Amino acid sequence: MGKLFEDTARRFHDYVMPTYKPQVMFVRGRNARLWDDDGNEYLDFAAGIAVCSLGHCNERVAAAVSEQSRKLVHVSNLFMNELMPRLAEKLVTESGMGGKVFFCNSGAEANEGMIKLARKYGNATGRNEIISMVNSFHGRTLATLAATGRKKYRQGFEPETPGFKQVPFNDFAALKAAVTPQTCGIMLEMVQGEGGIYPADPGYLKAVRALCDEKDILMLCDEVQCGMGRLGTRFAFQKFGVVPDAVSMAKAIANGFPMGALMAGAKFGDVLTAGMHASTFGGTPLACAAALAVQEAFDRDGVLENCEREGEFLRRELTKFAGKYDFVQCVRGMGLMIGLVLDRPAAPLAGLLMRDRMVALTAGETVLRLVPPLTITHEDSELAVRKIGAALEKFAAEV
Ligand SMILES: *Cc1c(COP(=O)(O)O)cnc(C)c1O
Repeated sequence: MGKLFEDTARRFHDYVMPTYKPQVMFVRGRNARLWDDDGNEYLDFAAGIAVCSLGHCNERVAAAVSEQSRKLVHVSNLFMNELMPRLAEKLVTESGMGGKVFFCNSGAEANEGMIKLARKYGNATGRNEIISMVNSFHGRTLATLAATGRKKYRQGFEPETPGFKQVPFNDFAALKAAVTPQTCGIMLEMVQGEGGIYPADPGYLKAVRALCDEKDILMLCDEVQCGMGRLGTRFAFQKFGVVPDAVSMAKAIANGFPMGALMAGAKFGDVLTAGMHASTFGGTPLACAAALAVQEAFDRDGVLENCEREGEFLRRELTKFAGKYDFVQCVRGMGLMIGLVLDRPAAPLAGLLMRDRMVALTAGETVLRLVPPLTITHEDSELAVRKIGAALEKFAAEV
């Protein structure tokens, strides 16, 4: 590691709160490739944690951001901005949900808005409890932490925000038993990301939908990670044929430009009204320009088709490793949201890959999480399979 890294690491240590422990510094990126400060090239199967879904420095997004940044960046939501309703219209039309959108800046903020939407609606009839799932992840703000089904993230930040409880995912009997006359929302990820790449059962989602209809409960889908094309459809729910009442989005929505969004279905589009909810930076012309460019890429560049094709290839090839090594249990996931499930911690395997200059994430304890750009070339998919194969061989020799 060079002097630039050392200087930067010292400055980081002295001045940045120690919530992260970065070991490598990237200085440049292009689609699924990254370069560090020493000029080493990496294959990137993390995509900034499922954010840069159109690859690093996507030309369409770069042009849109650059152009808009010279025209108008931010005027606040006290004024009309041409791009925000345009983006909202695009999302509503593509989703088929027929509702309305609120823009913000992150996944946690989108989920906060979704929780507020459900409470506002529910409180009108005396209900304000939300049921979420064990192993879920919804963000790091206080309410989204309360919704997150992993206690360790909440420890030390007591008192806990009331009004939340968790039930096991994909267990309809447990969910039904947990519903009370206070329940106003059921919140879930269609494919759990941080928890370990667990897809919902389609039958389970249909049953949840029917339960929500019967009890006038909002079905709240956190699509922050599994949405925006990651599963091969623009919205994750489109893969399952179940339409939720509200969807939260962020991560890939503007390919790395910070943005979050909350979309409510037709029945709930006017629940939050003037003065009830707001965000200074929500939906700036600049952020909307980036997000519109992402939508245009979906329309014109065959992104979703590529995601389906490469996802299928990767899942098929990776499944072969489950037959070859005892410690590889299976491959889970859909589209390009893929988990290689081990019977032991996956972090050392991610470490081996990093040494071979491939960036991959873990999820849960035992899952190697692969979320490459949806624009990945077939050559890069093949290279990834070779690198993972080599890493598994080393891993097998070590264990
Ligand atoms: C990343 C993530 C969040 C939180 O998003 P932030 O932008 O970090 O606040 C929420 N839900 C899911 C499913 C996520 O993957």
